[in-house]
Amino acid sequence: MMTYDSENIFAKILSGTIPCREIYRDDHVLAFYDINPKAAIHALVIPKGAYVNASHFHTSASVEELVGFYRGVEKVVGLLNISPEKGYRILSNCGPHGGQEVPHYHVHIFAGQPLGPMLCQPHA
Ligand code: AMP
Repeated sequence: MMTYDSENIFAKILSGTIPCREIYRDDHVLAFYDINPKAAIHALVIPKGAYVNASHFHTSASVEELVGFYRGVEKVVGLLNISPEKGYRILSNCGPHGGQEVPHYHVHIFAGQPLGPMLCQPHA
């Protein structure tokens, strides 16, 4: 059972209490630029539903929400003129080991430059 904190910062962005640099929204997703970009292009895509993390979303969202979300991610890739041929990275941090800071499920989209290795340090 996942408990959703409705005071988290992305909930406030969704409700319009806090502004964002919006890229796209539809019935299922909101996409906006990360406030602290870690690549030339760094966007965030969040579902409109109250899901804490990837596992919560993947186990509890309806098929419509799941498809709507991931189609939304691809829509944002297109809107940002990111070519799959050049490439990009999508990433979702889950929980403490994943380094998740905001407890509303989100996918990062990084692009616009070679992104280097997947992690800073190899597994020892
Ligand atoms: P994560 O560690 O995956 O939870 O990442 C959370 C991301 O949210 C970080 O990359 C932050 O820079 C970003 N972030 C935090 N607050 C805001 C905000 N108000 N607007 C846009 N991005 C934010």
